[in-house]
Amino acid sequence: AASGSGSIMWFRKGLRIHDNPALEYASKGSDFVYPVFVIDPHYMEPDPKAFSPGSRLAGLNRIRFLLESLVDLDTSLKKLGSRLLILKGEPGQVLIRCLKEWGVKKLCFEYDTDPYYQALDIRVKEYASAAGIEVFSPVSHTLFNPADIIQRNGGKPPLTYQSFLKLAGQPSWASSPLLTSISSLPPVGDVGSCEISEVPTVKDLGYGDIEQEWIPFRGGESEALKRLKESISDKEWVANFEKPKGNPSAFVKPATTVLSPYLKFGCLSSRYFYQCLQDVYKNVQKHTSPPVSLAGQLLWRDFFYTVAFGTPNFDRMEGNKLCKQIPWNDDDELLAAWREARTGYPWIDAIMVQLRKWGWMHHLARHSVACFLTRGDLFLHWERGRDVFERLLIDSDWAINNGNWLWLSCSSFFYQYNRIYSPISFGKKYDPNGDYIRHFLPVLKDMPKEYIYEPWTAPPGIQRKAKCIIGRDYPKPVVYHDSASKECKRKLAEAYALNQKLNGQLSQEDLDNLR
Ligand code: FAD
Repeated sequence: AASGSGSIMWFRKGLRIHDNPALEYASKGSDFVYPVFVIDPHYMEPDPKAFSPGSRLAGLNRIRFLLESLVDLDTSLKKLGSRLLILKGEPGQVLIRCLKEWGVKKLCFEYDTDPYYQALDIRVKEYASAAGIEVFSPVSHTLFNPADIIQRNGGKPPLTYQSFLKLAGQPSWASSPLLTSISSLPPVGDVGSCEISEVPTVKDLGYGDIEQEWIPFRGGESEALKRLKESISDKEWVANFEKPKGNPSAFVKPATTVLSPYLKFGCLSSRYFYQCLQDVYKNVQKHTSPPVSLAGQLLWRDFFYTVAFGTPNFDRMEGNKLCKQIPWNDDDELLAAWREARTGYPWIDAIMVQLRKWGWMHHLARHSVACFLTRGDLFLHWERGRDVFERLLIDSDWAINNGNWLWLSCSSFFYQYNRIYSPISFGKKYDPNGDYIRHFLPVLKDMPKEYIYEPWTAPPGIQRKAKCIIGRDYPKPVVYHDSASKECKRKLAEAYALNQKLNGQLSQEDLDNLR
């Protein structure tokens, strides 16, 4: 063990140097700092049974993004006179072993509200306090501390965005400079017998040489800051940003920032992002406001973090007080068709291909496929769709993903189940030529634009000419939208009425819906 005073900086998310209070505290007054990241094989190892490359829990895109982020972090730490120590194993066990072996006085890590980390952190903290090690675990992943907001609301999470905004107010740090620049770090101490490795490659993890399609983002803090700078350099764009007006089919230059993967892993601080936006707003004549503005998007993120933290069983229908109880169907074939982009609706399938290939889609594209799977067409359980997103999205985020699936399935937050996205006309509005479909579903690239959203209506001669016979080269629709969506609305009206009955009485709206 090292002599003198040492501390461990345990990286999990928060893979950055800027606005990192845990890292700052770890280095204050320490002779040694051990920057640690634990690779959990459970999360990383290839699952040969999965329908697309990746582990059981994470698609390869996200694994790669994480590894890139770790390489970038290691490079930055080296510039500051330190380095990243990669260890492998079950994170709790590994951490406790490091605490034992290195004789440190402080353990620092960013506070995390996800249930996985809540459980893990209790174990590690228990050990640390019994061993007399100081634990410092600041909230720096979100704009606000979800626990504070819940406390201000009498112990319950606010259930609407507006009430959240009222409770939250201006963040306390809003006007102070955040981008602390750590100029050097104490050296890494003696690592004893703990096995330290370099950041592995995907090949090291057992993935072989998998060819990667071009995706528009690389992991890491450097890339995040570059991307942020580019996004906010167009002040007019930032000032006029209105989320619902974005084009979900734009893929060469997406309509939004695509900073979500960086926020997910904390390569970018949401607080720094928020401050940069405030800076832009101060320097323009007028700007949009929450919920549609860019700052409003970050507040949505905090809203979902707060509700998720304050709601037991938030990620389930059963035992979740916020969630309407709906008798969703169970149908593995339909689920597989949706997951594997074989629904026969090109708009839906193209989005599902973008999910598999890129691990990112525009918000309204996510709306389309989530609505289609649940209350719009297939009437399958939102938890099944949530699982697919959770594995494949690079920005896969426990609170935000579950919150949005609850929303899109009309299980919570949003209840206008009569408003269904058409899998035909919604995309056509933005992209009448179907360029997005042609890109992600090349089998349809020669289909004339009149038929590209409904290729089953193309006459046989046209299908032959487009070299795409429906039913052979591209599937027929798995359901007919008109009848399927009607049936979905009927079932939801029934389920809502039953939920009302369980909770007391029927509202006028429910009665109207039942007619
Ligand atoms: P921008 O519009 O540039 O917004 C900036 C940031 O604000 C985002 O990076 C994100 O952190 C936050 N944000 C934006 N929209 C939302 C929102 N609706 N709710 C909460 N935070 C938001 N987002 C995730 O980060 N992880 C998920 O796992 C996730 N799952 C989703 C599942 C469904 C079914 C739906 C409909 C949406 C989901 N979203 C999720 C929300 C949203 O689609 C993405 O955050 C957004 O598309 C990311 O792109 P962007 O960074 O360009 O967004």
